[in-house]
Amino acid sequence: GKVLVSGANGYIALWVVQSLLDHGFSVRGTVRSESKVAHLKETFKDHGDKLEVVVVPDITKEGAFDEAVKGVDAIAHTASPFHFNAKDPQELITPAVAGTGSILQSALLHANDTVKRIVLTASCATVLTPDGVARTYSEADWNEYSIKQVETKGSAASPAEAYRASKTLAERAAWKFFEINKEKLHFDLAVLNPPFVFGPVLHEVGSPDALNTSMQDWYDTVVRGVRSNEQLATVGSSFIDVRDVGLAHTLALEKEAAGGERIIIASEAYNWQDWVNAAHAIDPSLPAGNTSYDSATAAFPVKYDTSKSERTLGIKYRTIKESTADTLNQFREKGWIA
Ligand code: NDP
Repeated sequence: GKVLVSGANGYIALWVVQSLLDHGFSVRGTVRSESKVAHLKETFKDHGDKLEVVVVPDITKEGAFDEAVKGVDAIAHTASPFHFNAKDPQELITPAVAGTGSILQSALLHANDTVKRIVLTASCATVLTPDGVARTYSEADWNEYSIKQVETKGSAASPAEAYRASKTLAERAAWKFFEINKEKLHFDLAVLNPPFVFGPVLHEVGSPDALNTSMQDWYDTVVRGVRSNEQLATVGSSFIDVRDVGLAHTLALEKEAAGGERIIIASEAYNWQDWVNAAHAIDPSLPAGNTSYDSATAAFPVKYDTSKSERTLGIKYRTIKESTADTLNQFREKGWIA
């Protein structure tokens, strides 16, 4: 079958494409401009004509994906802004929500007879309540909190608040679309909710300062040592390796049971010092960080119940140690670690 992958040049998306090609799918990727085609083609040149790349300049426009969806068997919608440079929350919310709406609408109008499933790259940002209270979350949880923050603060909302709201509103819009159109639709929806994604990069990155948002944070913390001891011991979340995110997208298409589900995909919880420890153990020239931190007795602010993903997808998640080792190897090859 052929899978349409939106935002195909992104950090996560390249690993989605890699996994789909490895599993025998053909891929039609969308990017925003012609300049983003060459790196994708080069990366997957061994797969010949199994990868096609098309330009969709503005995903928020009605009908943006009308041509791109034609003839595909499934869609993975990954395109959505993940950065903290927005001056106004709408810079994140509009593309997240309207982009999701336009790809679903194009699928309904132009691919209802071929598409069987749509996988949405959501986020644990749509699940958690970022109020500083430690909890273990499941798929039953929704981040109403960030939506309220943005409603209350308007353009004074921080970029992180706006990002979380953008993802929550986009996921909510997707479920609503399926509810409203359920009589007409021949395809179903599987939503994947990853927490912070770390691990090696396949996308085009010229220098460490051009890394995507999550890996920039990782590099700054683990290699550059920018965080205070206090932060290293207490600031954290949960993670998933980017290669497992790629595989999860393929499995969410292949496994019947994933249809109609939102699925948290996550490996271990961490405080940043856990990553510093893993890296320093491999390469003692990297920062040691907070040497009084003890992972065995530390509190972990954000944990996820991943039993649904184990049931429906059956992934064995890479650990912090594995992810760190492979990322350091790659970054050393790139000359990004002294
Ligand atoms: P990247 O920044 O590497 O990729 C984002 C992709 O979305 C790029 O293809 C980008 O295109 C596209 N995009 C961004 N803004 C727009 C816009 N306004 N219009 C059209 N396309 C746009 O980030 P990730 O790979 O990390 O993110 C991919 C998805 O995964 C997102 O939906 C994100 O919310 C989600 N996610 C990421 C996590 C992480 O830790 N990395 C955690 C949980 C979820 P372009 O290059 O042209 O800007």
